[in-house]
Parts: sequence; structure tokens; C-alpha cells
Amino acid sequence: MNNLLEKSSVVVEGIPLFGASLEELAVFIAGLGQPVYRARQLYEALYTQRVAELDQITTLPSALRESLATLGYTVGLPELLQTACSVDGTERYLVRMGDGETVETVWMPGGDGGERGDGTEAAEEEEHPSYDDDEYKRATICVSSQVGCAVNCQFCLTAKLGIRRNLTCGEIAGQVAAVLNRHKVEVGRDRINLVFMGMGEPFLNYNGFMDAVRLLAGPMRIPESRMTVSTSGILPGIVQFATETVRPKLALSLNASNDFVREAIMPITRKWNIAALLEAVAAVPLRPRERVTFEYVLLGGINDQREHADEVIALLKNIRAKVNLIVWNSGPEMPFHEPTVQDVGVFQRRLRDAGIPAFIRKPRGRDIYAACGQLKRTLEQPLAQTLVEISPANQGGA
Ligand code: SAH
Ligand code: SF4
Repeated sequence: MNNLLEKSSVVVEGIPLFGASLEELAVFIAGLGQPVYRARQLYEALYTQRVAELDQITTLPSALRESLATLGYTVGLPELLQTACSVDGTERYLVRMGDGETVETVWMPGGDGGERGDGTEAAEEEEHPSYDDDEYKRATICVSSQVGCAVNCQFCLTAKLGIRRNLTCGEIAGQVAAVLNRHKVEVGRDRINLVFMGMGEPFLNYNGFMDAVRLLAGPMRIPESRMTVSTSGILPGIVQFATETVRPKLALSLNASNDFVREAIMPITRKWNIAALLEAVAAVPLRPRERVTFEYVLLGGINDQREHADEVIALLKNIRAKVNLIVWNSGPEMPFHEPTVQDVGVFQRRLRDAGIPAFIRKPRGRDIYAACGQLKRTLEQPLAQTLVEISPANQGGA
């Protein structure tokens, strides 16, 4: 543990190329006096081939690779510093950026039988008979958008960290590349879903987040329809999101059935109330069969009773919605309780009886501090945990 903390303070040298657009690379390459087609080769190496080192870019002459290195350029993928592995296959990484800041990224393999609770609908997808390292892989990667978060939801551990900074588009897409490399994923053959539900509020880092989406959906070849972004309800972000042509699916963290309760647990509600948020959400165009996901963290005795379910039904009656019920993951010194199993069941049944698809989100990797912000906090306030350091060998390119 001490070892990790010492390592986290080391600043990685170099100017990262990962994150640059094709246009930026073209300007960069022209500035080096190189032919413009080298920009496309670099672009493909970074995003489609997912190289981890400049040396792996064999399409570029070695003299050019060397001069890039001499000038201080690196691929600059974030580093998977340590991981906590769960018995259910979930891997949670502490991911270090070039300046030493860390965020969390999670790999959740397979489905969980029926609805995966991650914004994707397993029921609509054909199942593959086997899940094997050498064959087809299916997984969801949970991606962070900021270091910490400014939104201050009372039940959330990331909120306790405060906001340190936005992640760049390269750092957001880079989390995905680093994890895909670790698992030797072949995009196209393997089915990868992305959920922007890690640390931070994506719509408070709108440009960084959307630039990352464009890299992921473009040269990294992950269909936007397999991505879901979750927002706590940043109204201008939702309005802008509705106008995007490349657009992941949308999830809104509703978490309460009326403004009174929501204000108490999500103070941001004072700025944009539920009615305003639902109006903005209703303006987001949906693809065929697409639904807007409403996440609802169940807090025992606070928002999990029948009357709350009835209020949710009334709120969502005119929206093509589905609801993911999330059992609150407890954190230290928080004035909340987990809901009872019975209350969770009643809540779900009430929504379903009213025709709203409602799923109970399975806790993944509970044994490794699965809740948002928990791994980072656990490491920063060391508690005994089994953490496995990732060797450089399994961070290499795909
Ligand atoms: N900032 C965005 C995305 C990250 S949080 C948002 O708030 O939507 C992703 C989801 O985790 C949100 O739905 C949030 O309500 C939920 N969440 C946060 N803390 C949690 C906890 N302790 N237990 C269960 N869910 C939690
Ligand atoms: Fe930020 Fe989301 Fe946590 Fe709220 S729930 S504090 S918006 S990460």
C-alpha cells in the first residue's frame, strides 16, 4: 500500500499524443516537415491499433519514431496502476494520469442474466453460448470523466473528494484503450459497452467528454449505441446533448420522486428541478427501441416507499423510459441506510405494474469496494485490501 502511495506521487514525463484529433495530428506532422499521410498512420496506430509505445508504430520510419521520442512525445495512455479483482470477474482499476492524478475505471465482464443494469438491454441482444478468453468477449467498461466531482450528492463517495480537475478527451478515451489492451479486446469481434458512470459529472466536462465519444465511436470503433452517459441533471448539458449527431444513450440520475426529497440528497436540484430536467430529456431524440434510463438509488426510508414509486410513475408517464433501481452502496459517515429487500421488490413491482421497465441493478464487485469513488478513497485512507499490481507486460497494445 505504501509502495502505491509513493508511486502515485511520481509525475510521468512526456507529451501525450493520445487524444489528438486527425486535424491536430496533421498540423503536428506538417510542423515536423513530414508528409501528411504520416498523420493518418499515427492516428490509426493510436486509436485503431491501440499501441502503448511509440516503438510499436511500425508504419512510421524508425527515425521519425526516434525524433518524436527525443522531442518528448509519448503515446501517453493512462496507466492502470493497481486493480482490485472481484470473485465475479469485475476488475476495478486505479488509473493514473500523466500528472499523477488518479481516477477509477471498472471492467465488468459478461452479462448478469437478463438486464445488466448498465444502460444496455441484454434482452434485446442475442446471447453467445460461451464466454472464453480465446473467443468472443462481452464486457462493460465504466469510465470516469473528472477527477472527483463538484456536484455534492449526499449519498456519493466521489462527492467527498471534491473536484480536482476535468479529464482531457485523451484521458477519458485512454481509460478505455488501456483496459481494452489489458484484456486484449478485439473491437468488432468482442462486444464492449461503455458507461460514463465513473467518477465525475460528464456534462460538467462537456467538451472533453464529447471529444472522447467522437474518438471512441470513430477510430476506436465502439458504436455510440453501446455507450451510455449518466448525468446528475446538468440542464444546459442535456439541451446541448440533444443536438449531437454522434450521441450515446442517456441516463438521468433521478434518485428521488419529488423536488423536496431530491433537493435534500442532490442539492443541484435547486438549480434545475425535476420538471425542467424531464422537459429537457424529452427533447433528446431516441433511436428505434431506445429508452432513456432513469437511475434511482434506493435509500432506505428516504425515497424507497410505495408513495415514492407512485410519484415516479406519474413523472415518467409520457417518456419512453426505463428505470434502473440501484441499492445504495454504503459509505462511511453517511446518514443513509440500505433499503430492505422487501421494499426494493415492492418498488420494482409497482413500476412494472404501471408498464415501466424496471430493473434492479446487480451490485458488481461488492467485495472490492464497488461503489463510485470507493476504491480511490479506500486507497487514500489505507484500509487492508487485496490489491494486485498490474505488471507492464499486461498493459501492452492489443
Ligand atoms: N455524475 C454522474 C455519473 C456518475 S455517478 C451521475 O451522477 O449520474 C453514476 C451513478 O452512481 C449515479 O446514478 C449515482 O446516483 C450513482 N451512485 C453514486 N453513489 C452511489 C452509491 N453510494 N451507491 C449507489 N449508487 C451510487
Ligand atoms: Fe458527482 Fe454523480 Fe457522485 Fe453526484 S452521484 S456527486 S454527480 S459523481
